Amino acid sequence: MNAPSDFQRKRPIPSGFMEALQQKFQERFSSAMAVREHHGRDESPFPPMLPDAVVFVQSTEEVAWVAKHCNDHHVPLIPYGVGSSLEGHVLALEGGISVDLSGMNQILAINSEDFTATVQAGVTRLSLNEALRDTGLFFPIDPGADASLGGMVATRASGTNAVRYGTMRENVLTLKVVTADGRIIETANRAKKSSAGYDLTRIFIGSEGTLGIVTEVTVRLYPQPEAISAAICNFPDLQAAVRSVIEIIQVGVPIARVEFMDAAAVRATNAYSNLQLKESPLLLFEFHGSTSGVQEQAELVQDITRDNGGMDFEWAERPEDRSRLWTARHNAYFAGLQLRPGCRASTTDVCVPISRLAECVEETAKDMDQASFPYTIVGHVGDGNFHVLMLLDAESQQEWAESERLNRRLVQRAIDMDGTCSGEHGIGLHKMEFMLAEHGADAIALMHSLKQAFDPNNILNPGKMLPQLA
Ligand SMILES: Cc1cc2nc3c(=O)[nH]c(=O)nc-3n(C[C@H](O)[C@H](O)[C@H](O)COP(=O)(O)OP(=O)(O)OC[C@H]3O[C@@H](n4cnc5c(N)ncnc54)[C@H](O)[C@@H]3O)c2cc1C
Repeated sequence: MNAPSDFQRKRPIPSGFMEALQQKFQERFSSAMAVREHHGRDESPFPPMLPDAVVFVQSTEEVAWVAKHCNDHHVPLIPYGVGSSLEGHVLALEGGISVDLSGMNQILAINSEDFTATVQAGVTRLSLNEALRDTGLFFPIDPGADASLGGMVATRASGTNAVRYGTMRENVLTLKVVTADGRIIETANRAKKSSAGYDLTRIFIGSEGTLGIVTEVTVRLYPQPEAISAAICNFPDLQAAVRSVIEIIQVGVPIARVEFMDAAAVRATNAYSNLQLKESPLLLFEFHGSTSGVQEQAELVQDITRDNGGMDFEWAERPEDRSRLWTARHNAYFAGLQLRPGCRASTTDVCVPISRLAECVEETAKDMDQASFPYTIVGHVGDGNFHVLMLLDAESQQEWAESERLNRRLVQRAIDMDGTCSGEHGIGLHKMEFMLAEHGADAIALMHSLKQAFDPNNILNPGKMLPQLA
């Protein structure tokens, strides 16, 4: 596969266009190389593809102004949160303007009685939880990066808590969105449920900046659980760990988090986070509920893991120990990178029905064992979701080609098991080729019709997500 920068196809910028933007945004407009470089890369393995300029917006009205200006002149416009996406989402394939929403970082309302919060799209998940700290409530969706809520909506993000609390799909009530031609719409309201018309909220969730620009997000909140406890358990092999998870889910334990790390991921985490975890396949658990409920869940889980050969079930009762463990898990990606300093990482993410998880992980590990480069497997396995982090020599075309071949096999395996090519990272550029295999030509054609209706001039993050049909 060519690196995408080999086929960046920039659209021409009409004369006077940049000057108008500069006049409107003054010092919040930049065409400096360093700023464009920062906004033309993400955490994907691709080399950067730069936008022509970046604007730093502060209000919905400013976003609407930019959208209208770009639409009138057919100039691409790419929404930008914090750039933590992993599949080439923010690369400026056709050049254009990157709209940085990180300055839209106001918490607009916390409705404790209704368990909702409304925030501007640039608010990050950690800053929202910081603002909720004294309310007794929390927002559970926790991708490993401190992503913006707008970006999380756009990628339909999830994380370690999704097994209990769901993903962005289940936790967004309404959105304020700027359309491609600069209109401002509200997709729904704060009612817990509604049967009023098409569900625009869920059309925008997961649309990766290709249908509209989210400027405000209203999310569900949850009460802080009365009791929380966490535990780790080691296993002799990967199969025993995954089998335990399947049984835990199938007997209906309302577990809050269950995360898998293979031995290589544990080794990397020990080194990076200064821990002394036993370096074999491991499950990390968290239980939420009443004091007795948590104890009951934990006992049941302990029995199941023991029956599957689990060893050394260890508790982390103190909040600081729990927080250390989960921070280490969230840093597993950065820890993995240190297994091969200076490497280029390619991370992939599939999700299968829980009944097929063991088979899928096992076949993937066998396949990956043939690779000529190091790798780790980690996963939000309670959802049937796991990731492979492949650590490639940055200069080696041969390793890149090999990783793409392994990735294709993994994705096809997941799709053949009635799963998906992406559980949470999204499509961007890297997963576009799998959309047809997953959805079929008729569904892709319908998605193209939707794109045409929402963005007739194809200015919003063009060239992403939808493969061309023959
Ligand atoms: C170490 C690490 C761990 C991660 N772990 C997880 C994980 O566990 N679960 C998970 O789901 N993801 C994970 N991710 C991926 C990433 O954090 C998510 O994709 C995140 O949701 C992207 O948010 P962002 O603010 O960085 O968006 P960006 O990367 O800036 O943008 C992502 C996409 O959303 C669009 N976009 C951004 N803001 C808006 C907006 N306001 N309106 C419309 N479109 C917009 C962009 O155009 C782009 O297509 C991880 C990433 C890293 C680096």
